[in-house]
Amino acid sequence: MEVMVEQIVVYGIVFLLCIIIIFFYVRKKKTASKITEKKIAIAKEEGLYEPVSLHPYINLNTCIGSAACVAECPEKDILGIIDGKAAVINASNCVGHGACFHNCPVEAISLRIGTETRGVDLPHINQNFETNMRGIYIAGELGGMGLIKNSVEQGQQAIESIVQSKNIGKKEVYDVAIIGAGPAGISATLACKKYNLSYITLEQDSLGGTVFTFPRSKIVMTSPMDLPLYGKAKLYDTSKDELLSLWQKIITKHDIKINENTKVEDIVPQSDGTFKVITKNEECYLCSNVLIAIGRRGSPRKLNIPGEESQKVAYRLLEPEHIMNENIIVVGAGDSAIEASLLLKDHNKVIQVVRTETLTRCKPKNREKILDANEKGEVQLLYESNLISISHDSCTVKMDREDTIREFPNDRVFIFAGGELPTNFLEKAGVQITKRFGYVVKKHS
Ligand SMILES: Cc1cc2nc3c(=O)[nH]c(=O)nc-3n(C[C@H](O)[C@H](O)[C@H](O)COP(=O)(O)OP(=O)(O)OC[C@H]3O[C@@H](n4cnc5c(N)ncnc54)[C@H](O)[C@@H]3O)c2cc1C
Repeated sequence: MEVMVEQIVVYGIVFLLCIIIIFFYVRKKKTASKITEKKIAIAKEEGLYEPVSLHPYINLNTCIGSAACVAECPEKDILGIIDGKAAVINASNCVGHGACFHNCPVEAISLRIGTETRGVDLPHINQNFETNMRGIYIAGELGGMGLIKNSVEQGQQAIESIVQSKNIGKKEVYDVAIIGAGPAGISATLACKKYNLSYITLEQDSLGGTVFTFPRSKIVMTSPMDLPLYGKAKLYDTSKDELLSLWQKIITKHDIKINENTKVEDIVPQSDGTFKVITKNEECYLCSNVLIAIGRRGSPRKLNIPGEESQKVAYRLLEPEHIMNENIIVVGAGDSAIEASLLLKDHNKVIQVVRTETLTRCKPKNREKILDANEKGEVQLLYESNLISISHDSCTVKMDREDTIREFPNDRVFIFAGGELPTNFLEKAGVQITKRFGYVVKKHS
């Protein structure tokens, strides 16, 4: 009898312990779900919920809520868990690492471009990276597949396809014109040198493409990749500087030329099957093939005002910590402009030139911060105004509200007037584009 009572007590304690464990487990899950739901609500409010490019799509019928995707994603708050299933949070910040896809134990994740309601323009490319226009090839993120390693591999493969096409070796015509010097364009340039092709590489900005714009402190996640003329680059978690200096080292060693600050405006097919590649400065290059490796981020829109070509004008802010005691004009009313003003305001005198009457095209938090800074006199917001000219040490602003023109002392100008997407550029060259809705991208390693 005594033994039975003891057993009942032991079972009772075990049962109670189980209940307590289950209670805390369920409570933890519920709290985690609530946190994810809150993050999604904020992402929606800030316009970060809708994916802009490659992103994970979760099949809720297959997902078992292992959270492997959340643990493996190297970026912050792209994925979370709600009620035991994975959920996308800040989808527009996804850069397409694909770690979620590779690590899901039940294959509940696919990588997609566009959603059911929001299409994304993708050019037509065959397995050789050639478009519908014979002789025009596309490599890298523009074709839909992001990441440094993929772009590097595609750049090289596209050049190998050109070599195999035998459409090379014409007199006084470049074999290839490469447009863009991001990971894909750099790799393609190295491959041209490796295969002895005559080439010209034209980059509107600086060598490195999107990598050049990464913050210095960012950990660049990648995996070993084959670089033409170098071999296997055994990189995993690296830095922007390490990657850029590796590329620079190979370029210098092989005496390769990349034309920076040279924007291509047009690719004009010629009747003999060659192409005229025309730059913004109206230089013109004749070539048998064109490799477009311009990524998906587009070109910054210019204001086309006198003085805009000055060295003191920039279209992005890379190292605010190095800018001190300057008179700065920031043009624009979007998040990039506001964030630049906020980063610069503590050590400089910042004037932000805004075309509109109010700030409507930005995240609520940014609006709050910049209005507060304006009120405290840390930043001067000039509404209904337009920058009309830039000179060595001043800028002229047309103030529509007061119907006046004012001159401000100035050391530096940042213009954030949006960007021109690559779609128009491709269509002008005859490249076919289709809007893709929830297009499943093939598995990549
Ligand atoms: C915030 C962020 C973080 C990321 N982190 C990682 C990471 O950790 N690991 C990773 O693998 N990937 C990461 N990526 C993705 C990676 O940067 C891109 O997938 C990769 O750079 C794409 O390479 P690309 O050569 O196709 O294009 P890009 O790097 O975009 O280069 C395109 C180049 O073409 C130039 N160009 C455009 N138009 C013209 C024109 N008309 N004339 C001349 N030149 C032109 C541009 O100036 C640019 O230099 C990240 C991306 C972002 C935005």
